[in-house]
Amino acid sequence: MELSEKIAVLSAAAKYDASCASSGSGKAGDGFSGGTGGGRRQGASFGAALPAGVCHSWTGDGRCVSLLKVLYSNVCRFDCSYCVNRASADTRRASFTTGELITLTCEFYRHNYIEGLFLSSGIFADPDIVMEKLIETARKLRTEAGFGGYIHLKIIPGSGEKLIRQAGLWADRLSANIELPTDKSLRRLAPQKSGKVIFGAMEEVVAAEKENGEDRQRSRAFHPGRETPAFAPAGQSTQLIVGVSAENDRQIIGLSGALYRKFSLRRVYYSAYTPVGVPGSGGIPDSRLPEISGPPLAREHRLYQADWLLRFYHFSPEEILEGGSEHLDIQVDPKTAWALRHPERFPVELGRADYEELLRVPGVGATSARRIIEQRRSRSLSYEGLRRLGVVLKRARYFVTVAGAAIDRLDDLKRVRRVIADTDGGGLQLPLFDF
Ligand code: SF4
Repeated sequence: MELSEKIAVLSAAAKYDASCASSGSGKAGDGFSGGTGGGRRQGASFGAALPAGVCHSWTGDGRCVSLLKVLYSNVCRFDCSYCVNRASADTRRASFTTGELITLTCEFYRHNYIEGLFLSSGIFADPDIVMEKLIETARKLRTEAGFGGYIHLKIIPGSGEKLIRQAGLWADRLSANIELPTDKSLRRLAPQKSGKVIFGAMEEVVAAEKENGEDRQRSRAFHPGRETPAFAPAGQSTQLIVGVSAENDRQIIGLSGALYRKFSLRRVYYSAYTPVGVPGSGGIPDSRLPEISGPPLAREHRLYQADWLLRFYHFSPEEILEGGSEHLDIQVDPKTAWALRHPERFPVELGRADYEELLRVPGVGATSARRIIEQRRSRSLSYEGLRRLGVVLKRARYFVTVAGAAIDRLDDLKRVRRVIADTDGGGLQLPLFDF
């Protein structure tokens, strides 16, 4: 098969890999992430002017970056029901050689098409052999091709601890995808995968990071000038598919909270399930899969917002879904939903509130909360000035006072809920960082 055909097949196979968002790595082109092969929605759009396989990605600070996102091979021994690359799928198969991938990555990098490589693979052989191929590609890129861009490597489920440790020496980020929130769902939909194995890989990454941190400290103290390379400096991430199994948002958010606590993950990605068992999708009908007309994107978006509450707004999973609710409110964003359940906490006086109180106000983000505190040290606040500080007044207006004066009142919760839901789709059209 021609290289151009391979690129087309293996980038199309990788487009179902989860998202490409980011958090910092400290290296050039930092801040990407993704997931493993799975029959899901494309996480980032392919630019019309860019070569196949190059996708756009957004960093935590809103910067747009690009990376080559491909599978090493879409041949897979596993038969995860939700995945277009599963063993039983009638799809065109291809595999790169390591040399081809290195040439391709360097060419794209030289032409400024990409700032990094996201590399995953189907399990075309024993997991150790597949992992070795990914590591070899990253190692040769660094040591032989002098590639200084970002590298995200997928941890192949079932590969050994030693290989996970090697992968982190060449990659900026590693990720092992959980895919489904419970063992029960894994057994049903991806019977060759196991939660224990995936959590074991995450644990290994945590242990390797810790040891690497200690080694680096020692080398700084005893061998100044001889720097020990950092182990996966952009940390690890994972992905959960939403809507393919029966778990509710409460289970998903609870799991994410536990993952952030236990494995210090940089990101959990949520990928709305796209039906694969329909004509033209490369899949075959499978009675284990839900019959849905399209990916549950609104649910995915709410989960991302809830995830931001966990990571940056100091909410606990229990606060996000209180009182036995199983799913997030689709009408309004989760912070607004929480605020409407707790009218006793409002209004918050912006001239006095501390940082934690400000973080709880709908329409006030972490950045605007810091700006409010900074500004009131030297100047008094005004409603007109709040917009400049990044406050989204169409939501915040019901929940704050400035110098004792309110803009709007929180006396009729149903009305406020309706107005916020109508005004901006309850936050569905808004970026994730300002609520
Ligand atoms: S392991 Fe499962 S999710 Fe990954 S490529 Fe193979 S079939 Fe798809």
